[in-house]
Amino acid sequence: MTSPLLHPDSLAVHAGREDLTALGVHALPIDLSSTNPLPDIEAGGLSYESMAGGGLPLAEGGAVYARLWNPTVARLESALAQLEHTDAAVAFASGMAALTAAVLAATAETGRRHVVAVRPMYGGTDHLLASGLLGAEVTYCTADRIAATVRPDTALVVLETPANPTLELVDIAAAVAAAGDVPVLVDNTFGTPVLQNPADHGAAMVLHSATKYLGGHGDVVAGIIACGTEHAAALRRVRAVTGGLLHPLGAYLVHRGLATLPIRMRAQQENARRIAAWLATHPAVARLHYPGSDGDPMGLMGRQMRGSGAMIAIELRGGYEQARHLTSAVRLFTHAVSLGGVDSLIQHPAALTHRPVAAEARPGTGLVRLSIGLEDHQDLMADLERGLDRPVAAGRAEQPAAATASA
Ligand SMILES: *Cc1c(COP(=O)(O)O)cnc(C)c1O
Repeated sequence: MTSPLLHPDSLAVHAGREDLTALGVHALPIDLSSTNPLPDIEAGGLSYESMAGGGLPLAEGGAVYARLWNPTVARLESALAQLEHTDAAVAFASGMAALTAAVLAATAETGRRHVVAVRPMYGGTDHLLASGLLGAEVTYCTADRIAATVRPDTALVVLETPANPTLELVDIAAAVAAAGDVPVLVDNTFGTPVLQNPADHGAAMVLHSATKYLGGHGDVVAGIIACGTEHAAALRRVRAVTGGLLHPLGAYLVHRGLATLPIRMRAQQENARRIAAWLATHPAVARLHYPGSDGDPMGLMGRQMRGSGAMIAIELRGGYEQARHLTSAVRLFTHAVSLGGVDSLIQHPAALTHRPVAAEARPGTGLVRLSIGLEDHQDLMADLERGLDRPVAAGRAEQPAAATASA
């Protein structure tokens, strides 16, 4: 572990690299071994036993097999744990693989089958929980209903803050208190450890789609959960048997991304702050969603969050037609799902990321989501203006399938 006295900016650059000088290397080493030579049957078997139980490889027996443990992935896990103020972290092939493991570890391993999910949340998370694929019974609620929704057989509370796509904030400490003994998993994909550390407010598990800000360059799909050692052991047990592991090349890319995460996040946030202020008074915008822009009624700025982040959602006066016009008019923004990279993206949640969500919880058809990148903010505003300057009459053309279902 790097010194806990280091500033987070220094940790982002150095965490998980503590032994590089002793190894005589400067860049992160990548170990692509799918299997590892065994010293002898006894030592190999004992190490296997340790990892299958959720522990670490034993020095004498080695890593045995890549589905059990990989040193490149372990470096990333150590770095993220330090950034999130937890004792451990466990990395997965994607954010959804991480969530799958968290639900299986909390339910199948304990025999409790009930999960409370706080809406709104990312469409894929909502969909996976609703699908029944994981064998859990899921009850959706709003953050103020957690205490009333938790049951004796509740294994896990899942929430997201800021939430995808409308950036609602949840008071993590209040949610943890409402959940009582039930562990709370907080999806911190939008916040990143730069803006908030959910574990400091009592979250048992902190999930990231590392595909987004942690990787930061749109070239890797990964998920990771920062947590205490007991939850980490349970997650590793599930990962070892279900195999949703992160490839070492993916771990390398995410780890490399961490070094610039604080500086990217602050620069993108500064862009977003200026663009949000401009959109707040734009005649084509009916409503702006940006953390803190509502005056912060829950007082979470400073107490829970160190900034508003770089995601913005807007409801357009021209509705779906204006959204269609805007998403096809932009040239600098890429019209694409995903978020958190160095380049700006725009997408329509009701048609895309939140399409599988039940009609009553699906975002409106006039809502578009912006992920603000590192471009010049005036260039970005000029680009958005291409799609906002011409008012489009609402309700003129056909609505998407998702919208029809929600009507
Ligand atoms: C993208 C996303 C996920 C899913 O992560 P993948 O890496 O795409 O599997 C989960 N939560 C949030 C908030 C996301 O934006």
